[in-house]
Order: sequence, then C-alpha cells, then structure tokens
Amino acid sequence: MSMKFFFADSQDTVDPSFDFEAESRSEWRIRQRDDVYPHELLAKPPYDGILISKAIVDGNGADGSRYSLAQRQRLRRQGARSFFRLPALLETMGDCGAFSYIREEVPPFRPEDVADFYVDCQFDYGISVDHVILGYQASFDAGLPGLDPVPAEWRRRQEITLELASEFLRLCRSGDVRFIPLGVAQGWSPRSYSVAVEKLQAMGYSRIALGGMVPLKTHAILRCLESIDSVRCSNVQLHLLGVTRCAQIAHFQKYGVTSFDSTSPMRQAFKDGKDNYYTLNRTYLAIRVPQVEGNPALQARIRAGELKQEQVLRLERACLSALREYGSGMLPVDTALEHVLAYERVHHPDARREEMYREVLSDRPWDSCLCTVCRSIGIHVVIFRGTERNKRRGFHNLSVFYQRLGSQAQRRSVKTRPVVAAGRR
Ligand SMILES: [Zn+2]
Repeated sequence: MSMKFFFADSQDTVDPSFDFEAESRSEWRIRQRDDVYPHELLAKPPYDGILISKAIVDGNGADGSRYSLAQRQRLRRQGARSFFRLPALLETMGDCGAFSYIREEVPPFRPEDVADFYVDCQFDYGISVDHVILGYQASFDAGLPGLDPVPAEWRRRQEITLELASEFLRLCRSGDVRFIPLGVAQGWSPRSYSVAVEKLQAMGYSRIALGGMVPLKTHAILRCLESIDSVRCSNVQLHLLGVTRCAQIAHFQKYGVTSFDSTSPMRQAFKDGKDNYYTLNRTYLAIRVPQVEGNPALQARIRAGELKQEQVLRLERACLSALREYGSGMLPVDTALEHVLAYERVHHPDARREEMYREVLSDRPWDSCLCTVCRSIGIHVVIFRGTERNKRRGFHNLSVFYQRLGSQAQRRSVKTRPVVAAGRR
C-alpha cells in the first residue's frame, strides 16, 4: 500500500518564457496555452494526482473563480486529464471545496450537480458533498449520561453530510459514472468521526474522505484515526482532506489512510512568515525583495514624500544585482547581505531577518537541489518577489515534499499490519 499525494489545484502555473534577468515575458505568451503546471515543469511529477474543487472552478463564495469562463467550459468539455495535460500515471479527484461555503446554512451544491461535474471532468475519484463542522472538542466523547454537550448545529452538519453522501452514492450507482465515489465523514471528536465512518460503510462506501481536519494538530488527527480504526472495515481506504501538517503523514498509513491532499508546500512558499523554501531536512526563509512598482505600501510612502522614488529603485536594483552576483560566486556573503538589508530597512524597517537571511545565503541550498527549478534559476528560487519566482519556489517545495513522502512511506512499508484484524467485518 502506498500513500498518494493529491495536489489541490488552484491554477498554479508559471510562464516558462519568463526572463529572470530582464524580468520580462515573451510578448506572444498566452497564459492558458503556454503556462505550465508543476507536473510539466519538473522532470518528475511532484504528486500522484490533482484534486479539483468545484468551488474553485465555479468560484463559489468570496474566493472568486480561478478559472475564466472559457477555461471552465474547456475543463468540462475535454475532461481534467486533457485540460491539465496530465501524464498517464497521474490521477484526478473531484471535490466540492466545503471550506468555501462553511458560513452557509446548507451546501450550495446538490449531489446531482456535483456528480454531473465529476462525470463531465472525467475524474477518477469523486467526493460527496459535505458540510464542515466549525469546531472540535474531544472531551464531548466523555459526556455525562442524559446530557448532550454537542451543539445541535454540529450534529446537524454531520447529518447533512451523511444524507448527501447517501444520495450521492445512490446517484453514482444508478447513473453511468466511471469515477470511484468517496463519502465524507465530518465529526467533532474521535468518537463522532468513527460513528460517521460506520454509517458510510453501512451505505456501501469503501473509500471515505475525512473532512474538517485542516485546523487539527497532529495528535488530534491521530486520536481520530485510532478511533476510526476500531470500526473500519479492512477493505475501507481513507483520504485526508486538506492536510496542512504533513510531516507525520506517512505514519497515518497504518490506520488505512491511503491518500491525502494538500496545498501547503505551494502556499508556504509565499504565504509563510519563515518556512518558504524546503530542503529534505529543514526549511529556509526566502529573501524579500519586493517590486517597487506595483507595491501599494511603498508607492503610498513615495507619494506621501516619505521616500524618494529614485532612491528606493536604486536600492531595489542594487539588492537584486548583489544577489545575482552572489549566486554566481562573484560576491562575498556579507556584501550581498548588506544590500539585502539596506533595501529591507526601507520596505520593512521593523523586520529582524538578518540571521535567517545569512543562513540561507551561506548554506546556498539551491546549489545542491536537483529539481528543475533550482537547476535552471539558481538563487532566484530563494528570492521572494513576484509570482514567477514565488510559484517556482512552490514547485520546488512540492518536489522536495514528494521526495520526503516517498522516503517516509518506504520506511513504513517495512512493517505492515495484518490485512484483516479479528472482529472486523
Ligand atoms: Zn529545487
């Protein structure tokens, strides 16, 4: 058994024509045609499949669609495999993106619309419609007799999720669907998750996705998995929806988790305060070199007369060329660092990042990484600046993350548990 990683799509692509020296693009670039996905840019795809959310495609909720109308139509007409130009070995999974409608009374999608969407996109797996429970309280499992501490709203959301799963499975069985259906279990405690899993198993699901675990710490996820494991049929496989804490993920295999999805390696590249660049055994901070043009905060201070435009531009340019020269070994680390800090004193006067910058510069982790990104752009991968660098760093992180996962899973598979435990159905 292996652990499959599905990368949750949000149209993270890069422009292969981007010129890092001139910071310019090919004038003939057409984003939808020419930009590439991680599995296209990297020599080896950094995941086993892609998870595509109906909410991201259709733009439900505040988040707005990442897809143009034309893209949305093309996805449904051609199917996901062709739309994403996926290699044969990669799989596709559809879900609803329940976090986008978490504040709504009921999910905005009907099971039939969702099943149609999955059929049109020709996904390999399709996840039932669910409603996230806005809370977790393990202590509710030890409730006093006659007293139910669980908020009615939590129970209502679990029931809705189960009803929708039942309806979804009925549709899948009666219709002409090729995808493998997954029912979603939502819960607020170890016990409530296992109750949901039991019910989904009774409906006939052999694949179950665990939702709402995004905010949970690793030990809480483990307790839920242990509880689920006490009722889980031996043929039932689990998928963890939207994992952010991925370090221990390979250890979840022994509880029947065979797949999960995450965006963390990508998001951390440009959303995290310090863990921006992954290596096999640690993370580094990326070096902030914001673009003066298009930076609202800097522009406002320039307009207010607080900063001089020419001076800021000069510091920005000097910083970039110092980093470039340091990358090719023509400048000592202290000089490069001075330029970085001189510019930082202007764009983030209160930041205290000198030691972390010195570390990433002295260690030069991009030199020893074999991924396509580091091999082709070198030091630019650790520069926090603009979407082309930031997303490429995300691609690099995906590649490192996938390697880590592979080596963890290998270590785990040395010890495998018996397939059927006594007392299991
Ligand atoms: Zn790399």
